Amino acid sequence: MDHPTIEKRARDKRQPPQLQKYEALRKSFSWAQVEKELDWVPGGGLNIAHECIDRHCEGKRGDVTAMVWVGKNGEEERYTYEQMRVEINKCANALTSLGMRKGDRVFVFLDRLPETYFTILGTLKAGGVVGPLFSAFGPDPVRDRLQDSGATILVTTPELRKRIAAILPQCAELQHIVIVNKLGRSKEPLVQGDVPYDALVAKASAEFTATTTRDDYSIMHYTSGTTGKPKGAVHRHNSVLQQYVTGKWCLDLRPDDIYWCTADPGWVTGTSYGMIAPWSNGVTQLVYEGGFKATVWYELIAKYKVTVWYTAPTAIRMMMKIGVEAAKRRDTKSLRFIASVGEPLNPEGIFFGQEAFDLPFHDNWWQTETGGIMVANYAEAPIKPGSMGRPIPGVEVAIVDDKGKTVSPGTVGNLAVKPGWPSMFQTYWRNEAMYKSKFKDGWYITGDRAHMDADGYFWFVGRADDVINTAGHLVGPFEVESALVEHPAVAEAGVIGKPDPIAMEVVKAFVSLREGYEPTEELRRELLRFARGKLSAGVAPREIDFLPSLPKTRSGKIMRRLLKARELGLPEGDTSTLEED
Ligand code: AMP
Repeated sequence: MDHPTIEKRARDKRQPPQLQKYEALRKSFSWAQVEKELDWVPGGGLNIAHECIDRHCEGKRGDVTAMVWVGKNGEEERYTYEQMRVEINKCANALTSLGMRKGDRVFVFLDRLPETYFTILGTLKAGGVVGPLFSAFGPDPVRDRLQDSGATILVTTPELRKRIAAILPQCAELQHIVIVNKLGRSKEPLVQGDVPYDALVAKASAEFTATTTRDDYSIMHYTSGTTGKPKGAVHRHNSVLQQYVTGKWCLDLRPDDIYWCTADPGWVTGTSYGMIAPWSNGVTQLVYEGGFKATVWYELIAKYKVTVWYTAPTAIRMMMKIGVEAAKRRDTKSLRFIASVGEPLNPEGIFFGQEAFDLPFHDNWWQTETGGIMVANYAEAPIKPGSMGRPIPGVEVAIVDDKGKTVSPGTVGNLAVKPGWPSMFQTYWRNEAMYKSKFKDGWYITGDRAHMDADGYFWFVGRADDVINTAGHLVGPFEVESALVEHPAVAEAGVIGKPDPIAMEVVKAFVSLREGYEPTEELRRELLRFARGKLSAGVAPREIDFLPSLPKTRSGKIMRRLLKARELGLPEGDTSTLEED
């Protein structure tokens, strides 16, 4: 297949791209070169917070603004690298004073507030393992993650604490709840036993020396699979190597950039590229607490003169929906590089970027387990619209068959990575068997299906499993089915991803009812509400259909593929394992 490339109109010709001569670099590259660009901590250790913040303070850049925070009510706070260093050190000391020891899990259930960033980096500085939770989660996902990780400290806000109050007694290992009441927004009295963040850090020292090594665990993000509850993919401090260098290569970051990553720290993009990559590259980063609204986003780009912007296809499709003119009404000329991740980026999205911002979106591919970008379209190289791009120097990516053997260009197979890349996940928390099952014949199997063309560009085909990608967030059907069957009316539930023009897929559930329940419109609405209350709006089903019974294999597994084929009017494929009613 011959895929055309698109011509890029270089916005800023004064500076050559950070990554040049891709092919030559791929041949000559070694990770030892990147190791030399980092600071390291005394004694040869490595610490993410130190690489992000402290090392810029030691030179002349301590006065440079590291974070511009824009609150949901229009508030603004600015922190220099030196101020960040102080806040992070205070937090590291405060957490240590609560009894946190190296390797202890600290979970952060917060909106995008400055304190979210201080706490995540503070935990990392002090050697804790941090688990950021998406603030839209309902009680069930929070309980599952706190229980599985054995978190001892939870940092949250008064409102979010109230939302999950019922599950907190079920989290046996939890010892402290730290409350961030940003700008005194909440008038709720502090629950007895809880610790106010402000008072805790006020008395803490502003100095802290990190003692972690490159192999110490750093961040854990829960990610969904086809079976069972989400698993905690655990990373280590060594990941900063890859996040730092891909920030340069794939986002073209330079110290004078004003950078904006729209992802929430509850997802891996929000930590790897919403904290570690930008700050290890010394940029000024915009953090916006509010959600998506195209016109507000354009206003932010114009007001803060954002130069590099990393966002996601669902947002791009929503911008496309309101049209190019809305973008053109704002002055977005400060932008010089724009990129996208999380779902397939349709060629139309790339062309929209060119029309609206005079720049194409550069698609790149990676996932929670890889910890950093693996495949990318680079500033210097032509984009093939619809392709995720080519592997970064220093990693080997291939398409392999189900036995783990590489296949020839153009053949669809499993997207696989040779283990050993710096930001590789180290385990699934308390689930080493599941971790091991991801490797075959010397390859890490990503769960995605793709093909590679003759020029070495990778093209996404789909997931190899039943995992749903809704607005860039992976949803495991099992998690949603488990929530639904907790309702007394539901006997069985099967959950699929239904194609959607904006969110790529939306969650759709099929349920069969217990004796004595009627499939009424009222019950449907009640179930939708029930699931939303337990999960979060993004994860809960958007649609529910009633079926007398669900198709199952002879061994009793619900055949989601068949539910999906029937929903979409597609051929039902091999149904030989189907259990007859
Ligand atoms: P997560 O682990 O939640 O970050 O989700 C990772 C998954 O999102 C990948 O395994 C893919 O299925 C999907 N994904 C991420 N980036 C892309 C992309 N550029 N194109 C297509 N799918 C993507």
